[in-house]
Amino acid sequence: MTTILTAQAVHTIDAGTSGDAIAIDDGQILAVGSAADLAEAHPGATVDDRYGDQVILPGFVEAHAHSMAGGIWQHLYVGYFDSRGPDGKVWSGCRTLDAVIERLAEAEATLDDPYEPLLAWGLDPIYFPGERFVAAHLDEVSTTRPILVAHASMHLLTVNTAVMEKEGIDADTLADGVPKDGAGDPIGELQEPAAMRLAGDSFVRFFVSLMAEEGLRNYGRLAGNAGVTTIVDLGGTPIDNDRLVASWKSLTAESSFPARVVIFHNPGMGGVTPDLNEIAEIAVARQGESTDKLRFGPIKFVLDGSIQGYTARVTEPYVTGKDNGLWLIPPAQLADWIRPVVANEMLLHVHCNGDQAVDVMLDAFTEATGGSPYADHRTTIQHCQLTRPDQYQRMAELGMCANLFSNHFWYWGDQHHDLTVGPDRAVGMNAAASVLGLDIPLSIHSDAPVTPLGPLHVAWCAANRQTANGRVLGEDERLSVDQALHAITLGAAHQLRMEHEVGSITPGKRADLVVLDADPHDVGASGLRGLGVVATVLGGEHHPVG
Ligand SMILES: [Zn+2]
Repeated sequence: MTTILTAQAVHTIDAGTSGDAIAIDDGQILAVGSAADLAEAHPGATVDDRYGDQVILPGFVEAHAHSMAGGIWQHLYVGYFDSRGPDGKVWSGCRTLDAVIERLAEAEATLDDPYEPLLAWGLDPIYFPGERFVAAHLDEVSTTRPILVAHASMHLLTVNTAVMEKEGIDADTLADGVPKDGAGDPIGELQEPAAMRLAGDSFVRFFVSLMAEEGLRNYGRLAGNAGVTTIVDLGGTPIDNDRLVASWKSLTAESSFPARVVIFHNPGMGGVTPDLNEIAEIAVARQGESTDKLRFGPIKFVLDGSIQGYTARVTEPYVTGKDNGLWLIPPAQLADWIRPVVANEMLLHVHCNGDQAVDVMLDAFTEATGGSPYADHRTTIQHCQLTRPDQYQRMAELGMCANLFSNHFWYWGDQHHDLTVGPDRAVGMNAAASVLGLDIPLSIHSDAPVTPLGPLHVAWCAANRQTANGRVLGEDERLSVDQALHAITLGAAHQLRMEHEVGSITPGKRADLVVLDADPHDVGASGLRGLGVVATVLGGEHHPVG
């Protein structure tokens, strides 16, 4: 049964196709053209003009986000910016430290069980310069109940004294990532997973809760609301966890689940040195369980932390004199981690925020492959935020891809300019035009829940590079509207090895579409983030938003 879907305009992101109507059959795109031509070519087709006043693009592809973006809404939001939950409710931002404490205290007052931990997320102390956010702040809320506040980057936690006493985090704790005050006592901040795990039961409870089935369902809702039809879970689902894998299988089998999900396994999550050969074997086996809506096989490594948390590894010091960041994989081991992944020709994405992490990745990849990796490997550097021109040159030579964290301009651009890396490096961050200039395959991302899931906002950031205070950082690196739209569709699909299925409106590809309330070309670069998502279509099935 063929359907002809008409629109005010169709942007195919495929130079070979154009028109204002799409013929769809059996979940696939049959043809693109004018409504009249398609009707003539497909007699007996049903004409569906429900989007006749709207604009259709290929469904967006988000190649860097985490399923915990759904589950985290079970916990209290204390972020700086307003944010919309999966149910559509908008939570107002906490613009002062007092507002954070007040919101925590209100939530604390509603908990009956005195031992139930209070869990919150989204905090970013960098917006409150001058005063370090420490355990004593949380002790104002409770001295007996465990309180854990995850920072927006998800690379840091702040806990209250009750947690530290219960778990024995004290002056004698020697772990990396446990900063101390002048008297030698820990301040309550736990940086990166190894230190975060010191928070014991409450931490385990927090992170297990993030993977509950309702959270995964909410992840699908957030994707649909943002116009995303293919999304990754970039390292949140261990593929050797049968319960989680079963949850994903049953959820994505539901016709109401509005997105395809690509699961990346992150072998470093357990805190012990993984056996990469064994993981490669499991990943290859899981690949055989992939379906139309659920994919296994790709691998993700995390090499360093976040810039705004000062845990990213940089070659030039942070301007405010902070120590250099943390290694999440010992650099000397990285080549050994890479070898089995490359030997099995598995897709590898590696998180590198700081330029020193990129140096280590480029060296280790060269060592592991002898400088000549297998053809079309698409090894992708994720975030890639402080990557230097000489590094982009090496990435191009090695055939790597770049997925940039363009949302940083809005959320942390002013802080990068003033506090973390200074104006010279801030204007060169997420250098998208340079990436395209070197023919490096480009995508851009939200890293939800670090910033809200929303490719149109990311595209706006890449096209404007404007901070929350109105600065423009690096005018020459701005993308055109078409380049930005390509990055959130076909560019991302390429990095997932799915460009033959999704990412453009091309005959033979899946009928995965997003319907917008206005034309991106009419609203221009400045209007991209204001576009409304009316619906998505997944394999020909309609999923209205709201
Ligand atoms: Zn991430």
